[in-house]
Amino acid sequence: MPKYYGGIEAGGTKFVCAIGSGPDEILAENRFSTTSPSETLGKSVDFFLHYKDEFPLESIGIASFGPIDLNLDSATYGFITKTPKSGWSDCDVVGAVSKYFKIPIGFDTDVNGALLGEYRWGAAQNISNCIYLTIGTGIGGGAMAGGNLVHGLVHPEMGHIRLQRDIELDPFEGCCPFHGSCLEGLASGTAIERRWNQRADTLEFDHPAWELEAEYIAQGLHILICVFSPQRIILGGGIMNQSQLFPKVREKVLSSLNEYVKHDAILENIDTYIVPPGLGNRAGVLGAIALAMKAAE
Ligand code: ZN
Repeated sequence: MPKYYGGIEAGGTKFVCAIGSGPDEILAENRFSTTSPSETLGKSVDFFLHYKDEFPLESIGIASFGPIDLNLDSATYGFITKTPKSGWSDCDVVGAVSKYFKIPIGFDTDVNGALLGEYRWGAAQNISNCIYLTIGTGIGGGAMAGGNLVHGLVHPEMGHIRLQRDIELDPFEGCCPFHGSCLEGLASGTAIERRWNQRADTLEFDHPAWELEAEYIAQGLHILICVFSPQRIILGGGIMNQSQLFPKVREKVLSSLNEYVKHDAILENIDTYIVPPGLGNRAGVLGAIALAMKAAE
């Protein structure tokens, strides 16, 4: 008997629901815009209810935008906590699904989910110490150490590490409402748009924005490499579709570390050390399915 797993990629702008067991085994999929919690979670539940006889599920995985409560002992486990996204603060995401499905529900951040998907099927296979950083409207990061996704008090918030800014080179103060010039404040798609008064995806290939962007990403990676000592770093998200960023980021990371971290993975093989997601833009929903498979173990 084949086994069926449900995945919900719960993003701030869109939700993707799917049933399957891997990249080549997606049996049903639906995507819709993120509106109110009741409407969006209702559509998600309806999707799985529609297929409940055809594809009876072992488990469901939810890879959610955050911040979220991952503490199993907490009264608000499974909630999105305080988010600037209107209507979604204190939203019980897991409860909305578990009310209808008495099966294991896996729940983690969207980035941890994507990392788990990459570990199972993509660019992090057999790499048990790895980081996945997504650079889009915002910036988030997931970490795996010894094959386990890193949680803690809450979950990593890699987008909010502080960076150095040369105020003559970059007068833009940063857009993070909490920190100004943190990584997200300086290098997210939102920051790029505010700095240049132009959407990131409309900036020319050789626009100076990309040199500056690579500089900030490299500063962030320098910190993450020193703190986590990852064996590989995956950079995803809409901004990283600008493929010219990869060689610039790699070069700047090498220059910034200045041969301090002595390992061939960095010094000789930086092209396979800092890489795009192996699952491309399907990392999110496949990550949710990977969370489901883990919850069913
Ligand atoms: Zn911040």
